[in-house]
Amino acid sequence: MKKYLGPILFFAVFEAVAVTLWLTMDHLFYLFNFTYIGGSVALGLVLYIRKWKYARLMVQLAVGLYMLIYLGILSRENMQIEGFWYYLFLGVFEAATIHYVVAKIAGPLLFGRGWCGYACWTAMILDLLPYKTPCGPRRKLGYIRYITFGISLLFVGGLFLLHVPDLEKVMFWSFFIGNALYYGVGIALACAFKDNRAFCKYICPITVFLKPASYFSLSRVKNDTEKCVSCGKCKTVCPMDVDMTDNARRRKNGTECILCLKCVEACPKHSLHI
Ligand code: SF4
Ligand code: SF4
Repeated sequence: MKKYLGPILFFAVFEAVAVTLWLTMDHLFYLFNFTYIGGSVALGLVLYIRKWKYARLMVQLAVGLYMLIYLGILSRENMQIEGFWYYLFLGVFEAATIHYVVAKIAGPLLFGRGWCGYACWTAMILDLLPYKTPCGPRRKLGYIRYITFGISLLFVGGLFLLHVPDLEKVMFWSFFIGNALYYGVGIALACAFKDNRAFCKYICPITVFLKPASYFSLSRVKNDTEKCVSCGKCKTVCPMDVDMTDNARRRKNGTECILCLKCVEACPKHSLHI
C-alpha cells in the first residue's frame, strides 16, 4: 500500500481543490473537473507503478483531449494563455484563471512541471514524434518564450483597449488559431532540431509561469549519490536536458524537468527517485 501513497496523496489534493471550489463557487462543474483530472493522473501513476509502459501516454490523452475538446471546443473555454489574460482583465475568477493558478502558477510548488509531462495537449502530440531524446546540444533560444508571452499579453490587452466587439467569439477563434499555430510550429521545430520538446524549450509562453514555482517544487528527481556511479545513462534519455545527478535546486535546466521519469527508469543502479 505504501507504494501507492503518491497517487493517493495526489488524488486527495485534487479532491480537496474540487470540493472547495464546488462549495465556494457553487458550481458542480468544479467537482467533476478536478475529480476527473486528479483521478486520471492518480490512475496513471498507479499504472506506472505497476510498470505499464503506456501509463503516462494514457494520462496525457485522458487529460489533454478532455481539455482540448470538451473544455476548449465544446464548452468554448479558451484555456490557452490568451484565455487567462482575457478572464483576468474581465476580473472573472473562472475556468481559465482557476486552471492557471492550480496547474501553472501555484501548483508547480507541489508538482513542478507535471503539467508539461502529463496534461498539456500540445505536448501530448509532440511526444508522439520520433525524436524522444534530443539530438545535439540545447540551443540558446529560450528568450523566445518571453517574446511569445509578451505577444499574448499585448494581443488580449489590445482587444480590450480597442473595444473590439464580441470578445467571446474572438477568444473562441483565437483558441483554434492559437492551437493550430502551436501544433504547426511545434512539429516543424521538432523535425528541424530533431527534438520533440523543442517547442517547450524555446517557444512556449506558459513556461514563464511554470519555471519560477518549479524551482521550489516539492516533487523533484533526486539522486542518491552513494549509489550513483556517474555512468551518465540518465542524462542521455532526458528530453529536457536536465542534470538530474546534481541535487542542487540551481542544477542545469532544473526548472525544465517535466517529471517524465525516463531518467529514473534508465538508471541501472536505481539511484534516482522523486
Ligand atoms: S512547455 Fe508548454 S507546450 Fe510544452 S508541455 Fe509545457 S505547457 Fe505544454
Ligand atoms: S528524464 Fe528525468 S530529469 Fe529529465 S525531464 Fe524526465 S524526470 Fe525530469
